[in-house]
Amino acid sequence: MKRINKLFPAIFLDRDGTINHDKNYLRDEKDLILYKNIEKPLQKFREMGFKIVIVTNQSGIARNYFTLTKLKQINSKLMSMLKKLNVKIDGIYYCPHGPKDICNCRKPKIGMALQAAEELSIDLQKSYMIGDSVRDYLFGYNFGGKGLLVLTGHGRKQFAKVKDEKQKPLAVVRNLLQSVKVIKKDYEKN
Ligand SMILES: [Zn+2]
Repeated sequence: MKRINKLFPAIFLDRDGTINHDKNYLRDEKDLILYKNIEKPLQKFREMGFKIVIVTNQSGIARNYFTLTKLKQINSKLMSMLKKLNVKIDGIYYCPHGPKDICNCRKPKIGMALQAAEELSIDLQKSYMIGDSVRDYLFGYNFGGKGLLVLTGHGRKQFAKVKDEKQKPLAVVRNLLQSVKVIKKDYEKN
């Protein structure tokens, strides 16, 4: 008999400008500053049964602004900061490539979502992506789920570009806490 593994819905989150303040190629863990009360929406998502996965484009590597070792240090510091706030993150994935590299992982391409789905048993169609750029919410639709634009970080500037896109976000929210209500309502509808 074939064993069927349970699949989980997930909230995919961008890193810079969504969880922590955007520092324009954040290159040192000392510059990591979390948005205030970030633990609240994240804990609520967990209570709703979502896994939480961070997916981040880090072209600063391709541009030689910082090394892969440094990126890993920054990510692990971020994970420990969130852990101290009692937030469990299931995974963190990064794309180290630049816009001109040919890769499958730079958002809005879905390589990171496919990898997370495989490793963490995620049902992508029931999942959501939240980020402060157009490419973030498009990533959510590209992997078969939905995407929201958050107005922190580059969100306000990016919002002006939404009109040029055929695919609109599920919602535009002021912050992550506001996204909880929107996602709860949408998730329960399906
Ligand atoms: Zn890549």
